[in-house]
Amino acid sequence: MRQKIVAGNWKMNKNAEQTEDLINELIQKLPAETESRVIIAPTFVNLASAVDHTEFTPIEVAAQNMHQAEGGAFTGEISADMLKNIGVNTVILGHSERRAYFHETDALLANKVDTALKHEMEIIFCFGEELKDRQNKQHFNVVEYQLKDALFHLPETAWKNIILAYEPVWAIGTGETASPEQAQEMHKFIRETILERYGNDVAENVSILYGGSVKPENAKEIFSQPDVDGGLIGGAALKADNFVAIVQSI
Ligand code: 13P
Repeated sequence: MRQKIVAGNWKMNKNAEQTEDLINELIQKLPAETESRVIIAPTFVNLASAVDHTEFTPIEVAAQNMHQAEGGAFTGEISADMLKNIGVNTVILGHSERRAYFHETDALLANKVDTALKHEMEIIFCFGEELKDRQNKQHFNVVEYQLKDALFHLPETAWKNIILAYEPVWAIGTGETASPEQAQEMHKFIRETILERYGNDVAENVSILYGGSVKPENAKEIFSQPDVDGGLIGGAALKADNFVAIVQSI
């Protein structure tokens, strides 16, 4: 049975105090039992306090990124071991902002994936086409190669630790959402691509999240698509009421 997941990617938002406030509000407002796993990804400096703060709550904490090396002379970077050591077991990799602004390539991401898995971390792997790819009708190709180049070297057993997040770049932070039909069409394609490479078990069990301008108003319709197993939420995750409403839409 594949899991339903709603994850909030806080990006470079919320200082220590604001992080604590938002977590407190989420703890108050989230129902005790949710249909989905609920994950938040605050910035690195607030991860340790977020882990402490969410202990004994249903909220899980993820990192937004990590470095592929085990450690050493990489000024400003954070390793998998450092994350695990403070109780962070999930990491977002391959976000389009990391790809666009920090030049992360599929080859680099394949390395990061390997390092995270070596440390027995769970990965929320993000990918998705740009507007020009969709305009040129290359979106299926682009998505297929992003998956193949970063993930298809993995053995079947690794997939229990992989969550996919399809985030079309043109829908991130733009207010423009993929229609439920566009999301379903791509999610189905992703599942079929995995089916061809890994077979039915992996394809049926992998959770595929949608990300890109998900809000309380459109979450229900997107989440009701058969191949959409939840969402990766940016802007709307920064307000407790919005995020809780999205969690309740699943
Ligand atoms: P928005 O929800 O703000 O469009 O961001 C989506 C996203 O990038 C989540 O990782």
